[in-house]
Amino acid sequence: MQTIGLIGGMSWESSAEYYRIVNETVKARLSGLHSAQVVLYSVDFAAIERMQFAGAWDEAAAVLVDAAQRLERGGADFVLLCTNTMHKVAPQIMAAISVPFIHIADPTAERIAAAKIGTVGLLGTKFTMEEDFYRGRLTDAHGLQVIVPNAADRQIVHDIIYRELVLGIVREESRAAYREVIARLVAQGAQGIILGCTEIMLLVRDEDAAVPLFDTTRIHAETAVARAIGEKK
Ligand code: GLU
Repeated sequence: MQTIGLIGGMSWESSAEYYRIVNETVKARLSGLHSAQVVLYSVDFAAIERMQFAGAWDEAAAVLVDAAQRLERGGADFVLLCTNTMHKVAPQIMAAISVPFIHIADPTAERIAAAKIGTVGLLGTKFTMEEDFYRGRLTDAHGLQVIVPNAADRQIVHDIIYRELVLGIVREESRAAYREVIARLVAQGAQGIILGCTEIMLLVRDEDAAVPLFDTTRIHAETAVARAIGEKK
């Protein structure tokens, strides 16, 4: 079995889910006492969040490059970055390590294509919904049509992530708000919804949408296991 490298802490609430899912998936695949071989490097999210809002992306990239290199030195056979937003600096991380980097948008797009879905709604932080680093990969590399919420809805989705979900706060009112945003995306033609922030799965469940949900946390973690146990290159 290969060793999975996880860059976590953004937030630790979702990194804990990655750790749980990789272990549950290895156990389901290999049975018995099997569990995942993992190296986790978890950063201080307060520092990263400050850099995000200051636009200090080079500084944030340096922190995550250092984390990825520590994972490589620690024996990781490949690396996952356990946040969609910070894939803004994925090119810098990929250039700095010699082991593979599993970009979260790639297996997500593959699952969407396998479900024969061409138009998908995207929920995430404003960085993820509004900038090109993530949407562009879905559209240009994978040929998907991507719909994002309107400006007011983007603010709601973003605020719930930063004020609640990354702190582990899950409120029924926020779930209702997400349900409404999802319904509006479906009315605009979304055939599926990407939970493009690794904490949204703490709040939203399949029954909250009339279309399939694509949970990036689960998809990313399951892809890591498939690779680690040799099911997928
Ligand atoms: N975990 C979140 C994501 O997947 C947001 C936290 C962050 O800004 O990294 O985008």
